[in-house]
Formats: sequence, C-alpha cells, structure tokens
Amino acid sequence: MPGGILPVDDEPHIIKALTTTQQRKTTVKISFSEIPEQGLRIELQEDTWFPDQEITRTAPVKAVVTLARKGAARVLMEGMVETTISLECDRCLESFPMALAGDFKIDLEYLANDPGQPAEHQCSSSEMETVFLDEPAIDLYELLSQQVFLLLPLKRLCNEECHGLCPQCGANRNTGPCRCDQKMKTTPFSVLATLKR
Ligand SMILES: [Zn+2]
Ligand SMILES: [Zn+2]
Repeated sequence: MPGGILPVDDEPHIIKALTTTQQRKTTVKISFSEIPEQGLRIELQEDTWFPDQEITRTAPVKAVVTLARKGAARVLMEGMVETTISLECDRCLESFPMALAGDFKIDLEYLANDPGQPAEHQCSSSEMETVFLDEPAIDLYELLSQQVFLLLPLKRLCNEECHGLCPQCGANRNTGPCRCDQKMKTTPFSVLATLKR
C-alpha cells in the first residue's frame, strides 16, 4: 500500500486515504499491481490533493474514486468530486461562490518504453478521457487535481444578468447607476430622480 492509504477492516476493497503530514502537496501513487481483482474504492478523507494554490475553495471537498483493472496495462478510473469554490466574475470582477461537482471517467494506459510501438494509440472511446502513463502506477492526487480544473466553467458570471463594470468609471453597475449615467441626463431634476430610485 502506498503511504497514507490504509485498508478498512470490514470491507477489504474499501481503503481510506489518510495523511499524517501537514504538507500542501502529497503524492499518493497506486501501482497497477496493488489493485485487486474486484477493484478498489477510495474515499478521500483529506484534501491536500486539491489545487488550493490556484483555486479558492470555500467548503470541504468530497472525492470518491474507484479503480478497476482492465488488463495488464490498463486501469479504468472513475470518480466524483464535490466542493464549493469562489470565482471572480468575468464582468464585474466580484467573487461569487459556485458549487463544483462532477463525475469523471479516465482510461489509464501504461505505455512501456517500446520504440517499436508508436503512439498512434489514441481515442479508445470518444466520451472517455485517455491518459497515458510512463509507469504502471496511478498518481492519484495529480489526476484528481487535473479533474478539478476540467470542471471549471469557461464563462464565469456571478449572475447571467450581471451588468458588469462601467467602461468609463469602472463602477460596478450591479450596485446601482454610476455618475456616468447621471451625467447623460441634462437637468438637475433628472439627477434627483436617479438618486431617489
Ligand atoms: Zn458579475
Ligand atoms: Zn461610470
């Protein structure tokens, strides 16, 4: 068993990842040969694998991974990740919370350094991501952290209706009209009308 992973007493196919170190980055490697016939289910009890340096998290993270052998050089990794993160809105630049949750399925293939075998070995399945490994071992934390990045939205909006920032004064238009809006009105009465709103 790799460092930090302990078998659970009653159910031998369930292991729990624990860590005794306070390090930010822990590596947990599971070699293909450590995966039993019936597969391996891992409930991550700690979160050092989460890319906290790059992504601001506002809740604990839950992650479950199952590993299944698919031959001598192939392992199917399935799992889910769930947490809440804080993102910056593309329009108004304010932070907002977002639930980050998703399932993933990765086909892990070990390619031995065989020069006679070119890397034309891609796209085993259209919907499944394939990751080629240079050793028959799974870098669990690294793969999990990659999945988190894949779950991030391309468009980050605090609200579909976000009014963004004023291109002139930079004020957040979600909090109300800025002085630029008022300048466009000509009479002092219209200014008062805006302020009363
Ligand atoms: Zn916004
Ligand atoms: Zn303005």
